Amino acid sequence: MQRVITLPDLRSARLSFSGTVGLVPTMGYLHEGHLSLIRRAREECDHVFVSIFVNPTQFGPKEDFARYPRDLERDFRLIESFTDVVWTPSAEEMYPQGYQTWVEVEAMTKPLEGAMRPGHFRGVTTVVAKLFNAVQPHKAYFGQKDAQQAAVIRRMVRDLNFPLEIVVCPTTRELDGLAMSSRNVYLDSEQRKAATVLFRSLSAAKELYEAGERNAEKIRGKMRDVLAGEPLAEPQYVSCADYDTLEELDEIKGKALLSMAVFIGKTRLIDNFVLG
Ligand code: AMP
Repeated sequence: MQRVITLPDLRSARLSFSGTVGLVPTMGYLHEGHLSLIRRAREECDHVFVSIFVNPTQFGPKEDFARYPRDLERDFRLIESFTDVVWTPSAEEMYPQGYQTWVEVEAMTKPLEGAMRPGHFRGVTTVVAKLFNAVQPHKAYFGQKDAQQAAVIRRMVRDLNFPLEIVVCPTTRELDGLAMSSRNVYLDSEQRKAATVLFRSLSAAKELYEAGERNAEKIRGKMRDVLAGEPLAEPQYVSCADYDTLEELDEIKGKALLSMAVFIGKTRLIDNFVLG
């Protein structure tokens, strides 16, 4: 595994490979969810690039950028046997003095995460566009865990004619259903137990849907009821939206996205299920 930091080094590493290249963009502190994306890239591409960059522009001023967990040496050990190149750019090189170009996807970034985290998706789409331009992969791998992010990036790729395929991989979970996340390390043992409430709430809603319920408000009500049963959980939003447009539904007709953001103490967790 080659470790590169600067853009010129990344470019010369990229030029040394012929064949297909898969890119897995991450913010590091890697877990089994990230590794499942890298494995999928390994299966489908001749060469695998992983980027590790805690992107400052996608964090709000009151968010956890400074304390976001970081451990590059551990990350390198986890991926070295099945990654060709790991790129850890610096913020100074990604956003040099005078930087003023942004990529913005419009309507789809307004609800859900976009409503709670103003500016978040502008940071995400901008950095991902820069990663794509630098690495020029044939395929790029994202997790269903961040459902809106995956949808927004697919939209950006179509709208801006990026010549690559986006592959969205299933959410990897702990045995008790908690979606794996670098942020789970913030949870103490009591909070860690309480955090299963997101999965329990989504599962209860899915059960209701499978029993034939199509009224979206009843589905949202079910998710809220389960969340209300966990004293440590403070829901921020609960949504039953159209899978493609992310607009809230009255009635579920086609594919729907159930999603939620919930604070457990100071830790903000998100999770989702797709119905239909
Ligand atoms: P992050 O490092 O949190 O920015 O995540 C990097 C990529 O890994 C994103 O595409 C995430 O959606 C994906 N990812 C994070 N957690 C999981 C998970 N539990 N299962 C599958 N993919 C994940």
